[in-house]
Amino acid sequence: MIVIDGPAGAGKSTVAREAARRLGLPFLDTGAMYRAITHVMLSKGIPPSDSPEMRAALGGFTVSFRGERVFACGGDVTEVIRTPEIDRNVSPYSALPVVRESLLGIQRDQKVHGLVAEGRDMGTVVFPDADVKIFLIASPGERAARRHAERLARGEESDYDDILEQVKARDEMDMNRAAAPLRPAEDAVILDSTGLSFEEVVSRVMEQAARVLTPEP
Ligand code: C5P
Repeated sequence: MIVIDGPAGAGKSTVAREAARRLGLPFLDTGAMYRAITHVMLSKGIPPSDSPEMRAALGGFTVSFRGERVFACGGDVTEVIRTPEIDRNVSPYSALPVVRESLLGIQRDQKVHGLVAEGRDMGTVVFPDADVKIFLIASPGERAARRHAERLARGEESDYDDILEQVKARDEMDMNRAAAPLRPAEDAVILDSTGLSFEEVVSRVMEQAARVLTPEP
């Protein structure tokens, strides 16, 4: 069991996905789950507060993954959960204990034979017994530059300064919330990817994994 936590845009998803592939383990993107809840709540017009409407909607919420596709309440939300609108709105929803509790069981159920899970609180709250805990960081400028390049590569409009503000605002909210704030677990290895290539970051993760896991032949 490997967990990778860290701030927005540090490269957790791509690194965790590749490490999972090399280790022959399933990959769990918990950010996608919070994004999916945010999308469902926004489309129902339910604001981010612990209300009866919110609880009813969470009671009927389902999320699942098929390869790289994400499904929420039966619909394919893969693209819609990556929009700037979701980026702007996700942190107030994910700060709510009622939202976090609704995902805790779903996340823990994914750990059948092993997992590479990424998020904000994997090492601190969801999987405190993980074999390897990595806290992946990078400078805000580098994280914003990566998001900017990703958006342009997808043919979307993108403004670097806007993204930088977004990244900083999301870090602030995720670090300062009361429920499961973004912070490294005491036994996490801090990995700063600033200036490192993707391959270098994956290699560092694999070195940590090799200490405790036997990769599939
Ligand atoms: O990783 P990603 O950018 O997709 O995460 C989106 C948001 O979901 C984060 O900014 C955070 O508010 C929330 N999140 C969380 N706990 C996790 C994963 C994501 O609160 N384990």
